[in-house]
Amino acid sequence: MLDRLVLASNNAKKAAELAALLAPLGITVVPQSDFDVPEADEPHPTFVENALAKARHAAMLTGLPAIADDSGLCVTVLGGAPGVMSARYAGEPRSDARNNALLLERLAGEHDRHAYFYSVVVLVRHADDPRPLIADGEWHGEILETPRGEGGFGYDPLFHIPELEQTAAELDPPLKNTLSHRGAAMRHLLQRLQSGEV
Ligand code: IMP
Repeated sequence: MLDRLVLASNNAKKAAELAALLAPLGITVVPQSDFDVPEADEPHPTFVENALAKARHAAMLTGLPAIADDSGLCVTVLGGAPGVMSARYAGEPRSDARNNALLLERLAGEHDRHAYFYSVVVLVRHADDPRPLIADGEWHGEILETPRGEGGFGYDPLFHIPELEQTAAELDPPLKNTLSHRGAAMRHLLQRLQSGEV
């Protein structure tokens, strides 16, 4: 019976969001920092491999089931970049402002501005779990030529949702959570947990 999960991230916002989602299922989420687990490397070329590496690392060091997510922005005309490099697109130290500036530079003069955010969530029952639970979500939009909005983080001010005529940075946080890649991935995971797959 799954009643406690280690979150393979030290991001307090993610921990709170996950804790609220999983509480009704009787599952407690504990951040890996409570067990002094350091951040795992994310060396892989795909989101799912990186999420799996993070979840396995936390499960191995704690002996508990673990959950991890990995996400980023994929721009069609850039072959899916920045992709898994989204957080450090413009190098270290990580900077949303420099990442956004580089994205605009790479898209200068480009008419095809389609992009999507992608999120994958991976749950392993133990470090050697041969059948991890994997759920993902996408959020489609287009990249503006100038940033708009003060909310959110990362690429939100450049990510425009045509149907709403707003950027992700202009949306109320609860609406962003409903529409977003992360929200979709978490809903898919919850459906699978509720259907008794663990
Ligand atoms: P992480 O998986 O939460 O570490 O996110 C990876 C990176 O992808 C972030 O640092 C952002 O650059 C980008 N990203 C992921 N989700 C979002 C989002 O909802 N809005 C804006 N940027 C995002």
